[in-house]
Amino acid sequence: MDNIKVNALMLRATDYLENDKILTLLSAERGKITAGIKGVKKAGAKLKFAAQPFCFAEYVLAERGGRYTVTQASESESFYELRTDVNKFYAACAVCEAAIALTYEGDGNSEIFADCVRTLSSMCGGDEALTLIGFLLSVLRRSGYGVSLENCFACGSGLTSANKMRFNMDTGSFCCWNCGIGAGASSVTYNVLRAADGHPCGEITTAGKKRALKLLKEYLAYKTDAKLNSLHEFINLI
Ligand SMILES: [Zn+2]
Repeated sequence: MDNIKVNALMLRATDYLENDKILTLLSAERGKITAGIKGVKKAGAKLKFAAQPFCFAEYVLAERGGRYTVTQASESESFYELRTDVNKFYAACAVCEAAIALTYEGDGNSEIFADCVRTLSSMCGGDEALTLIGFLLSVLRRSGYGVSLENCFACGSGLTSANKMRFNMDTGSFCCWNCGIGAGASSVTYNVLRAADGHPCGEITTAGKKRALKLLKEYLAYKTDAKLNSLHEFINLI
């Protein structure tokens, strides 16, 4: 039996047998890892914290026949604030959900891991909706599904003040209404996405954030077939 140590974020815990759970961890060193954790549903279990949502810890995993079991964990950060506010909770669950959809087992992606940790940390004290939009744009880009927030991809015209435009799911880019194909999108959505990506555009309304998140949800589902229940809930909540 070999032991490995990883710095990881707890993305998902599923009940298993009477007292155990199966964890989906995102590690800096080895990408996504599935690991069992024993006895954590019993009262007073020593490792209970390690199966909590968003736990960021150094996990020690025992490996046998390609299966991992958590044997020890020491917590680096609990992101406690994310578990005490319902909006922040669902926004943070949406971060984990997107990370599950965009990472693979055995394929270390330390950039997506770092994005997740940074995002959860900013959500604790900041605007979780805008932070979530910025996170989704970043991880989509790192996964090869970047959303282009430049000018119209066909004619090169600026779109920041266009009334009507389109978003093409295949290319991940915006264009003028008359320049290409794709579903209609509003300049509000486009400008909020740009703002979350570092191009401030004046006042950002909650309705605008909601529209931007809806577009990102449809796009992520289109690219990955992932079920984005938490993102869906969060959009309904805000
Ligand atoms: Zn155009």
